[in-house]
Amino acid sequence: MAIERTLSIIKPDATRRNLTGAINARFEERGLRIVAQRRLRMTKAVAEGFYAVHKERSFFNSLVEFMCSGPVVVQVLEGENAVALNREIMGATNPANADAGTIRKDFAESIEANSVHGSDSPENAAKEIAYFFAEVEIVG
Ligand code: UDP
Repeated sequence: MAIERTLSIIKPDATRRNLTGAINARFEERGLRIVAQRRLRMTKAVAEGFYAVHKERSFFNSLVEFMCSGPVVVQVLEGENAVALNREIMGATNPANADAGTIRKDFAESIEANSVHGSDSPENAAKEIAYFFAEVEIVG
């Protein structure tokens, strides 16, 4: 299986509750390596650009406001089948539908404040990684 990279974001609801380490442990326990990581506060422009694909959705403005409401941790995860594996570790978008033992089942507060973002395809992962990181900042 191919070694992939995926973009992960620990969202404001999780940083507020001091869950960064607990969430990172979930990734490392399953063999994903954190090869880049930065804590930052998103501006409205950064959040709108990141979620541009959702700009026609009813939840867009609320989502942008939420993503700017506190610090986030943006990170690049690397490993075998990293995109799909990370989606499995995260669980379903709505924590009510997420499987037992997933990050969203265990930590998410709501469908919006659902603790983590993870790229949904290798193509989007490449775009999302480039949105936050220069290649020299990613150390595998
Ligand atoms: N979201 C929301 N309401 C919805 C669907 C999604 O607030 O009805 C938020 C939620 O934070 C989600 C993000 O928008 O993680 C992006 O949605 P997407 O469908 O891409 O879900 P994901 O890939 O994050 O599971």
